[in-house]
Amino acid sequence: MRISHLSAECSPFAKTGGLGDVVGALPKALARRGHDVDIWIPFHLEAAQWYRRRLQWPIEATPPFDVSILGRPYRVGILKGHLPHNDVPVYFVAHDPLFHRPGGLYAPNDSGMDDGLWRFTIFVRAALEAMRRLGRSPQVLHTHDWHPALATMLGAWSGWRNRWFDDVSSVLTIHNIQYQGAYPGHLFTTLGLPDDVRTGGLLDFRGSLNFLKGGIEAADVITTVSPTFAAEIQTPAGGAGLDAVLRGRNHRLTGILNGIDRQVWNPAADPHISARYSVDEPSGKSECRHELLRTAGFEPGDPGMVLGAIGRLVDQKGFDLLLEAAPELIRRGLRIVMLGSGEPALEGAMRLLESHHHGQFRAFLGYDEALSHRIEAGVDALVMPSRFEPCGLTQMYSLAYGTVPIVRKTGGLADSVIAYDGYNENIATGFHFDDPSPHALAAEILSAQHIFFQRGTWYRLMRNGMSVDNSWEHAAGLYEGVYQRAREVRGLAW
Ligand code: ADP
Repeated sequence: MRISHLSAECSPFAKTGGLGDVVGALPKALARRGHDVDIWIPFHLEAAQWYRRRLQWPIEATPPFDVSILGRPYRVGILKGHLPHNDVPVYFVAHDPLFHRPGGLYAPNDSGMDDGLWRFTIFVRAALEAMRRLGRSPQVLHTHDWHPALATMLGAWSGWRNRWFDDVSSVLTIHNIQYQGAYPGHLFTTLGLPDDVRTGGLLDFRGSLNFLKGGIEAADVITTVSPTFAAEIQTPAGGAGLDAVLRGRNHRLTGILNGIDRQVWNPAADPHISARYSVDEPSGKSECRHELLRTAGFEPGDPGMVLGAIGRLVDQKGFDLLLEAAPELIRRGLRIVMLGSGEPALEGAMRLLESHHHGQFRAFLGYDEALSHRIEAGVDALVMPSRFEPCGLTQMYSLAYGTVPIVRKTGGLADSVIAYDGYNENIATGFHFDDPSPHALAAEILSAQHIFFQRGTWYRLMRNGMSVDNSWEHAAGLYEGVYQRAREVRGLAW
């Protein structure tokens, strides 16, 4: 099958979180299963820097062309590279004023305005036009999150159909329900889309434009990244306002747990860590632990339990709960290493804890891919106290690295970690807690600490986690079923 992925992120070129990891990995697994797959993302500054660091540059895929919005031409270039160590093509939509921007993938424009709706409208229109010019019309257009969701809507609008897209089914994957691409309704007229797009009502939601809502209505099949999250987003508590829309489409909605990219996250072959190890040869993990504790400014031989936490510092991740519980945990002998960047208040709280608890709490502020590998390998347990978590990858990396996850029982965290209940040490891989409070989190960490000192049980949990098959192969098989369904519901052959 010919499948095109459209996304704002793709690891390793441009990534802020799990979205980038998935788009960098799922297409490879699909290609290994014999599909003809490509990826389309904006040519962000980060992607240009990735190439420059390697003294490389993607090739020009087509001569530049104009995308016209309300008579104003936007000249776009289409560049072509491929995923590292792999030949899955990656097409970059280049338009420097919109994408070549310091300050992150979603940075506002020079005047501080969030111009995402124009950026991604131009991205989608340029990508579809380039597919037409290149003769690369996919059978399935797989869009990820709100940014490219307009592509599913354009397929649904008769005025936009042409010979190339008559035969295209669409799949939308929701990686995060909170980011919806919601903008004031009056901006519609500035997008240069035909009026019947508006009256079709797809983009409209409660008087505003909402790209994710439109994608949910228009896609032939909707997926999200874990079965539990697929159920949660259909409830008022978990739907971020879109639960009724999702309930209306639940016959088209399914949850597929993400896999992990074993070429990137494998302690037996990881170039970032100081010793390689595996479930059969686990001894290298203690060298990684030593090295991490030294880097963190802790006593390298500390026999106590060392906790790690990695992620975007936003309310969703619940790191405030960990920061509040930290003084008590430190008093009980735990050591904590945190890596993240985001909300200034959380960064400030991390700095403060570090200054009060030198040698016991270490805050690494910023985004550091290599360090995230060294933390996964070096700590004993990893905490994910998320308020909601569509899938979560960090805890899956922990399982692979023999690091025991302690997670809030929500979304993909509930689906990917089997909680230890005192009797199931033959299958358990970690710990769950329910209540999103510092108290419940601390209580669970302290019971994990208790097990940590029962070395036999702890090793069983580590081994169980390292033996879990979280590769993308399984998930790719399930996506294949989704693509077939997306073709069938439109009466198209596959
Ligand atoms: P989300 O997609 O909500 O950010 P996930 O757990 O699915 O959460 O994915 C997070 C990904 O981003 C993981 O690969 C994690 O290692 C990485 N990550 C997040 N913050 C940082 C950081 N500060 N430095 C390095 N990697 C990070």
